[in-house]
Order: sequence, then structure tokens, then C-alpha cells
Amino acid sequence: MNDPAAIVTRFAPSPSGHLHVGGARTALFCWAFAKGRSGRFVLRIEDTDQKRSSDAASIGFAKDLHWLGILWDEGPIWQGTGGGAHGPYFQSERLDIYNAHLQRLIDAGHAYYAFETAAELDAKRKAATAGGRAYRYDRAALQLSAAQVQEKLSAGTPAVIRLKCPGHDVTIRDEVLGEATIPATEIDDFVIRKADGFPTYHFAVVVDDQLMQVTHVLRAQEHFTNTARHMLLQDALGFRRPAYAHLPIICNPDGSKMSKRDKDKALRKAVAERGLSAPPAATVDATVWNAWLGDKNIQLELDAAQRLADAIGVTLPEINVDDFKRSGYLPEVIVNFLALNGWSPGNDIEKFDLEFLRTHFDPRRVVKTPAKFDRVKLMSFNCDAITGMTPEEFERRAAAHGNMYHPDFMARLGPAGFTMLARASQERSKTLDDMFRGNRFLLLADDELCWETSKQVQKAMLDGSPCGADHLESLLPILEAHSSWTATDLEALVKPFADAHSGGQLGKVAQPLRVAVTGGTVSPPIFDTLAILGRESSLARIRRCTAHFKTLRAASPR
Ligand code: GLU
Repeated sequence: MNDPAAIVTRFAPSPSGHLHVGGARTALFCWAFAKGRSGRFVLRIEDTDQKRSSDAASIGFAKDLHWLGILWDEGPIWQGTGGGAHGPYFQSERLDIYNAHLQRLIDAGHAYYAFETAAELDAKRKAATAGGRAYRYDRAALQLSAAQVQEKLSAGTPAVIRLKCPGHDVTIRDEVLGEATIPATEIDDFVIRKADGFPTYHFAVVVDDQLMQVTHVLRAQEHFTNTARHMLLQDALGFRRPAYAHLPIICNPDGSKMSKRDKDKALRKAVAERGLSAPPAATVDATVWNAWLGDKNIQLELDAAQRLADAIGVTLPEINVDDFKRSGYLPEVIVNFLALNGWSPGNDIEKFDLEFLRTHFDPRRVVKTPAKFDRVKLMSFNCDAITGMTPEEFERRAAAHGNMYHPDFMARLGPAGFTMLARASQERSKTLDDMFRGNRFLLLADDELCWETSKQVQKAMLDGSPCGADHLESLLPILEAHSSWTATDLEALVKPFADAHSGGQLGKVAQPLRVAVTGGTVSPPIFDTLAILGRESSLARIRRCTAHFKTLRAASPR
């Protein structure tokens, strides 16, 4: 795979959902292989399965690739990327091209029309199974005369086109998996054009790889055996053969395939644990809910699943690129981490960027076995990248994330509040989302805040004499008398108070303050938290909290 002359790779997703991390890794390796060898990287949208494809999905794929920095030299035009001399790059717009090549095969006797209905084929399949034989199409259509074929076509009888296979074994040579021979008995005369007039995946992929001058096909291992069919088609069409490298699947640590079903599993588990018998309001339609609960094979649509997860407080496992983006992972970290799934540069190098990958990627170092997706490691990579940023960079990127996913938060904080929160959060952020997810208290109206009933909260507020609630009561007038509300001023006010009232133990005062304004015991540093929340909200919350815990204490004295 090292011939530097005009290397062309392609990423060819079927737009039937979101870009899965496995697909993103394929795109990444295709990109790196071509770009590292002054070649071209093509994006082609394989939308010949009309039932499953959607424009929204194609745009989603383009967005996700852009976000990762995987830009295509040729392909659909999107935000300044794409175009090229070998389009169109949507297969659904290439029907004339496929039809011309199909006709060529028919004229040369390499392909033929077949008219069996799905029911007839099913009956043949069942008969073979009942007789203990493996099913193969019996070539019954070849018994029809040219006139009969023409008559049926003229009458509009639905027809498929099948390749007339030459009946010999096919040996695939793969850069990752080595050599394998697929026996002729395993390949029957497969369909190359469906009854709806669209080519099958096999046919379109072979024509496009030829016309788009693809020299190297890097794709998922699930397509390995398909390669035999593609080679037969290349021979029949008189096309050259690209080199092949099939990439290992990405799986969960337990060995199961990492798929969108994992989200459904997580959701079902949470619903069972909570004993939910009806869906929370505005999440899932009641009929859909009942069908879903009654059948483990049904999966909720992604949007509905996300609404339900949000409503019951479950974090769904990230599977698609967009999930990781939403969860606050950095694109450069995803790129780095994905490249390590199934490949490594050697010399114990683990941290690198796209440019490094471009210059070092070599498919010969891709492993054969499934790659295990280690979420703990990914999180630690992300955390390292965030702590390594300058405060300005962190703020800029967190703001972009906030504007996209938490506009309510951004509006509530305003620019100055956001800067304060970003500065106070960077050190403890593992993702760009942490500062939003972890600080929901900032969004609540002051009279909506509830205090946790945990032991830590009880301890912070009610243990000792004076207890936390007592400290707040004494501190309140001091705070009320103070108009400047910066973190520094507040510290200058509370520290002497702690010296005088809790033997200098700042925590004895800071923790009740934290409980009062956030509802719990975890937040950014307390003086920053008070400053971000602002004077009026902080004081209102401290007042309510003091009253609340004094009532509690009166009800059950310690
Ligand atoms: N459209 C195929 C898929 O999404 C790609 C097949 C290929 O790369 O040949 O799996």
C-alpha cells in the first residue's frame, strides 16, 4: 500500500442515522492514508437504500466530519469543502451512470434479468432448507428466451438484474486480514439492481470506486466477504482492482459490539430500577411506551430516548460522534483516541494530533482483532487536554459549547458571569459539559432550590454547636451590610468571620454557605460561586436555607 502515485481513498457512509464512532474511525484512517501520501480523500454518500436514507443524516455526517477536522477533497459541497470532477457524490444521483454499466453487463451476457417475486424466492429458499441444502439462486431466469424477457419487461413486470457468476473461488488479499478464499459455492448469482431500479450496494460501490479513481478501500471488517462479490463485478466490468484493508470493529470492554442498542439497554435498566410504569410527561408517547416495554427488540427513537433519559436523570452511553460532542469531548481528543482503537504508532506514543496521524498512519500497523473502547481512558485524555488549555482557550471553547447546548445557561449568566464560572471550573472539568451539568443550581429561581437530604448536607448544616445553620444566621447580617460582591471581597469578609466563630476552620462556614446557595455540597470554589450567583440571589437563598434548617432542627433536635 505504499505506492505514492495518486492515492485515492473514500469514506462511503450510508446516511441512515448518525455517524457512529466506528464510521468516524474509518473516515479518519482513509483521510490519514490519502493525505499522508499527497493523495485525495473522497466522501461519497451511499443513499441507494431509499427507505433508510435521509438528507438530514447526510448533513449530520458532514457536520460531524467537519467537527473532527476530517475534511474531504472531493464530495458533497458543504461549508466550503467538497466538489470535484467525479461527481455527483450522492449515489442516488448517479442512476444513469449505473444503468449504462448494467446495460453493458447485460449486452455482454455477464448479467441477466430475473422476475421471481419475493414470495417465489422465499418458497425456493424454504424448499432448499427443508431438503438440507444451502440455498442458491437456481438461475431459473436463464431459461427464459430473449423474447420472453422482452415481453415481461415491456409489460412492466418487476425485475431485478443478477450477475452471472463465473463459478470459481475468489481469493481476497487484504492488508490487515491477509488472504482468504471464498469458495464458489458460497456466491450465487447475486442481485446487482433491485426491482425499484436502484443498484444494490455491491454494484454501486464497484462502479463508483472505479470512476472516482479509488485506489485503496479502507472499510469496516463486516464488508470483508463482500469483497469477493466486488472482485467478481470488477472482473465482469473490466475494472482495475483497488487494494483492500478491512478495519476491526470497535466493541465495548465486555466484547459486545458498540452499538446504538447500548443506549436502549441503559434506558431499560434505569426504567426497571425506578419501577416506572408510565412515561414522564412530554417524553414518549404512551402507545410507543407500551410497545417498547412489551418488546425488547423495539428501540426508542434517539430523540425520544434522550428526552426520557433527561427526564429520569440517566446519562446514556455515547455511541455516535454527536453524542461525544454533546457530552463535551474535544474533537482533537476523539480523533486521537479513535486512532488508537485498532492502530498505534508504536514507541509507546499515545498522545498525538491529526497532523501526526497524517504523517505516521500505516495500515500495516492496524490490528486484526476487535478494538476495545476504553471510556475511562478517553475521559482521562479529555481531562488532560482541558487542564492543558490556557484559561482563555477554555473559556472560548466552553462558551461555544454552552451557546450550542445550554443557551438558557448562557443567558442566565451573561458574559461576566460566564467568565467567572469558566475560570472557576476549568481545573475540575473533565469535559466541556461539566460546568453546565454540574451547576444546574444557577438556573433555578431562588425559591425553587431544594436542599439535598444527604448525610453530608445534614452534617454541614446541623452538626455541632454552633452548627452550620447558626453560622449562616450570624453571617447573614454581615453579608447583607456589604454591597460589593466579588470573590475577593467575599473572602475578605468570611475569613475573619470563620476566625472568630469557628476557630479559623473556613470549611465550617464555607460548606453551609455552599449548601445554602447550591442545595448540595459540591460546587466551584465558594466565593466564586457566590459571586457568579450574585448578591440578591445569594442572600435570598441563604435566608431561605437558614429558616429551612432551623425548622428542621426544631422538629427533631439533635
Ligand atoms: N455504505 C457502506 C457502509 O456504510 C460502506 C461500504 C464500503 O465502504 O464499501 O457500511
